[in-house]
Amino acid sequence: MAENFYQETTAAPETTFDLSLRPPGFGEFHGQEKVKERLMLMVEAARQRDDVLEHILLSGPPGLGKTTLANIIATAADSNIHTTSGPQIEKAGDLAGVLTNLQKGDVLFIDEIHRLHPAIEEYLYPAMEDYRLDIIIDSGPSARSIQLNLPKFTLVGATTRAGMLTSPLRSRFGLVNRLDYYSLQELCSIILRSAGLLEIKIAEEGAREVASRSRGTPRVANNLLRWVRDYAQVRGDGTIDAATACKALAMIEIDQDGLDEMDMRILEAVIHKFNGGPVGLSSLAVAVGEDASSLEEVNEPFLIMQGFLKRTPRGRVAMPSAYQKIGATPPRDAQEELL
Ligand code: ADP
Repeated sequence: MAENFYQETTAAPETTFDLSLRPPGFGEFHGQEKVKERLMLMVEAARQRDDVLEHILLSGPPGLGKTTLANIIATAADSNIHTTSGPQIEKAGDLAGVLTNLQKGDVLFIDEIHRLHPAIEEYLYPAMEDYRLDIIIDSGPSARSIQLNLPKFTLVGATTRAGMLTSPLRSRFGLVNRLDYYSLQELCSIILRSAGLLEIKIAEEGAREVASRSRGTPRVANNLLRWVRDYAQVRGDGTIDAATACKALAMIEIDQDGLDEMDMRILEAVIHKFNGGPVGLSSLAVAVGEDASSLEEVNEPFLIMQGFLKRTPRGRVAMPSAYQKIGATPPRDAQEELL
């Protein structure tokens, strides 16, 4: 029986990586200096002791480099990396399959770890703490528990919603790191590096223009860069300067602050449909025709960071700059209350 059980389980497929632009080592990973310093120190300490790295949690909005860092950590520690994600592990057997494939020192990267099923999480605790897996196979009278010893491994978890992680899981990570949005200068360096790899001709001001509209996010910066390259190739002479970048980004409705069409729809909905708020996330999601979790993970943190929205216990509220952005006049009392 046990044999069949394991045959059924397969290692989770590797996520498709944007390998060409992913920095391979800490040296080429720009920004997140504090996080990088801590990780480099941990890797060095483990190397000196000839030990396996502690479990590491990386949190932050999508596209800030969590997957990239997980790969860099594995490379720096000379380890193999196995990649899976919370929703891919549906049954205890899936987890058993992944864990029993690990060799000593391997890195197991679980993306979207907050989406692990609570029952699976329970299996993960002893695996992380004591490198032991207690699983129950079969059900009813034939149910029995088997215990497997696992090699010492490093779990690197990534989450866009650190708050959704249960505290027992969170407390089993040796180091918890939060990634922040990138500065303009850091994004400029990332864009110039990507342009070099993709053999794109770009002027410093062109890179600044793209960086300033990239929502503090390297993934957005790389995507915008590719679009601007296409634009420059067809409508220009192939070189990206500030004017070309401006025109290219205007064409896809990315404004000077990096707000896209969905951000504008959100601000318009809060102001026009909900009278400036407070409005709950689910009503807002219905009003703009977007999934609530993507609003909460992608648009909202950026709009809050930029000072367009405020999160209150009663819901989301538009700030005066949001009225300005969409060309509406803030109600006097709301303005006073908000300021
Ligand atoms: P996450 O896992 O947080 O969603 P990723 O690690 O997949 O983000 O990063 C998204 C993209 O941004 C990758 O293609 C990577 O090339 C690029 N990237 C992320 N962080 C950096 C960085 N610090 N320097 C250079 N490129 C980066």
